[in-house]
Amino acid sequence: MSRLTCEVCAAPVLPLHGACAFCRSPLPATGGEPDGLLNYLMEKLPRGEARRAALNPQRLKRFRVVAASQMFEARLRQGGLELSPQLTPADWVDHLLQALSEDAARDASLRTALSKAGWALR
Ligand SMILES: [Zn+2]
Repeated sequence: MSRLTCEVCAAPVLPLHGACAFCRSPLPATGGEPDGLLNYLMEKLPRGEARRAALNPQRLKRFRVVAASQMFEARLRQGGLELSPQLTPADWVDHLLQALSEDAARDASLRTALSKAGWALR
C-alpha cells in the first residue's frame, strides 16, 4: 500500500509533477482522493473557515479561505471533493499556495503559519 500522507509536511498525498503540492518534496506520482484535505487545511490555516457536518462534528463539510482577494473553497459531496475554483486537487492547492504566498509577503503571522506547516512558498 502506498503512503497516504507526505512524509515531510504530513499533507494528504497530492502529487503535482511528481512532487508534493504543498511542500514540493518528491512524491510517487500516485495519489487517491485526498479525504483528509479539509481537516489538514483547517489545522494548518487558522484564517480559514470550516463548516462541520451537523450529525458528525468531527467531519468537515466545507473549508474556505480567502487568499489574494480570491475565495478558495473545498466541499465534501457524496464522498467526492468539489473545489472552487474548479481545478484538480493538486492544481487547486498550487493556486491556493500561490495566493497565500502573495498575502504572506505582507503578513508576518501568515508567513509564520505557512513555514510552520512546512509548505513551500511560491
Ligand atoms: Zn509535503
